[in-house]
Amino acid sequence: MLKGKNALITGSTSGIGLGIARALAAEGCGLMLNGFGQADTLERLPRDLAAQHGVRVAYHGADMTRPAEIAALVDHTVAQLGSLDILVNCAGIQHTAPVEAFPIEKWDAILAVNLSSSFHTIHHSLPHMQGRGWGRIINIASVHGLVASVNKAAYVTAKHGLVGLTKVVALETAGQGITCNAICPGWTRTELIEPQIAARAKALGVDIEEGGRALLAEKQPSRQFVSTEQLGQLAVFLCSAAAEQITGTPIPIDGGWTAQ
Ligand code: NAD
Repeated sequence: MLKGKNALITGSTSGIGLGIARALAAEGCGLMLNGFGQADTLERLPRDLAAQHGVRVAYHGADMTRPAEIAALVDHTVAQLGSLDILVNCAGIQHTAPVEAFPIEKWDAILAVNLSSSFHTIHHSLPHMQGRGWGRIINIASVHGLVASVNKAAYVTAKHGLVGLTKVVALETAGQGITCNAICPGWTRTELIEPQIAARAKALGVDIEEGGRALLAEKQPSRQFVSTEQLGQLAVFLCSAAAEQITGTPIPIDGGWTAQ
């Protein structure tokens, strides 16, 4: 379905971003991967994905806190792959603490990676999409773009901001063949939430698996984690012709979290 299209996916060296990369590649889409990781993983991932799906896969290590590196990432994508048709903003970090104890450097870092980086990628990518009259922008927000939880001031602020940015970009690109939506996942078992599972397990005096079940029981009525494969398929759907009129929409995929 996506043969001839190319996607830039920030934060795609693990977790949700990697799940989306796999799903897009399976549809024939070329990929620019981005994110941190061990040198051998960063070398192996593009090679394996390319071999598995017969698509072009490149990697750029831009740090999403640095606007100049983000500009270079977009330029590199177009130079390497020939176009930038799909942009998935997925890079993200987390830190939990009450507001009065929230470290200022963590606040700044979370706002930079989880919010401002998406402004910069969109700012630089849109002209390429407008030039071709087609584009898909998918911002990986969170249930925390729609509702709040304690101890997540920076994360909730950034994700609500990202949903706002999604709506503005959707309005500004309406009718141009470009859509901009936000995916709002609930608990998804990735490295990002392992510290929260470990903290819950420790507080309850239980093992890690029981800690995970306790997190789910508190917020996610299905009591099942969202999978990275399910998120990948939702991204594929948003790139399909069937989704052409879906724009400016935050889409929860959260086992019922935000229905409560
Ligand atoms: P993850 O830790 O597996 O992935 C995060 C990715 O972002 C990695 O590739 C990492 O290298 C990259 N990254 C972090 N800082 C970066 C920086 N400065 N520059 C470039 N890349 C950077 O976690 P994940 O759960 O897959 O998170 C992906 C996105 O999904 C995040 O935006 C997160 O907020 C969001 N999300 C996660 C959950 C969940 O339950 N896991 C729920 C809702 C939303």
